[in-house]
Amino acid sequence: MKRVEDQDLDKIPGRRLEDGDVFCFECRPDISCFNLCCRNLNLFLYPYDIVRLKKKLRMTASEVIEKHTDVVLRPGNFFPEVLLTMADNEEKTCPFLSEKGCTVYSDRMYACRTFPTEHGVSLDEASGVLTPVHFYKPPDFCQGRHESKEWTVSSWSQDQGAVYYHKMMTEWTKVKILFQNDPWGADGPEGKMARMAFMAAYNMDDFKDFVFKSTFLKRYKVPKAFLKKAKKDEVELLRLGFAWIKLFCFGYPSPELGLI
Ligand code: SF4
Ligand code: SF4
Repeated sequence: MKRVEDQDLDKIPGRRLEDGDVFCFECRPDISCFNLCCRNLNLFLYPYDIVRLKKKLRMTASEVIEKHTDVVLRPGNFFPEVLLTMADNEEKTCPFLSEKGCTVYSDRMYACRTFPTEHGVSLDEASGVLTPVHFYKPPDFCQGRHESKEWTVSSWSQDQGAVYYHKMMTEWTKVKILFQNDPWGADGPEGKMARMAFMAAYNMDDFKDFVFKSTFLKRYKVPKAFLKKAKKDEVELLRLGFAWIKLFCFGYPSPELGLI
């Protein structure tokens, strides 16, 4: 999910979709372009994608990040992007692609799940309100765009199991958007503080150790009921991570840390 400036909305390629707008699309294994969309991609991975992928692949978060991602800090940015590493073959295929299709389909990432739609947010600077914006952007080679089955953003999200992913993306976007400002000071975006924040968002195994095996719980009065859930459920742990990043990097208190 990207932040989109209001004045840029009309310049973005693809068709903007308002609530209730209809687009036509269908993807089937017998379609001529089957799997063409799963190669040579700049595929962004978000924190909730890692929670789902690590479970599916039976790997730790460190292993997923190490084996399957490139962590890239773009010039002028204060938090890195995490991209899926494509296979080292001529076509640069997705590492999860097999002849029969996607091998992680039930836990495929947000970007795969929402394709051929894309989502961003528009920020009203004065009120701080984030408004979701949606686009229909199938590539030219995608034959699914000539099919007649009709969808809206809402019905497509439900069909693809993307509703909860949208919710988690919204929660993450509210954190990520804060990184328009530099919180790192002299330590810089690759310093220890930045590595800790990255861990809280993308490495729930290490963050869990940090919460339960350091002095974290002496410093923060995390409500007991929430802490119990976070101990068992990585999604709740991720929410604690998001709350901690907001406090640690920007000084914003939150109920998850017992501060409101
Ligand atoms: S290119 Fe489009 S129609 Fe073809 S497999 Fe991908 S999503 Fe389906
Ligand atoms: S994860 Fe699955 S759907 Fe997504 S690009 Fe890879 S093979 Fe395609």
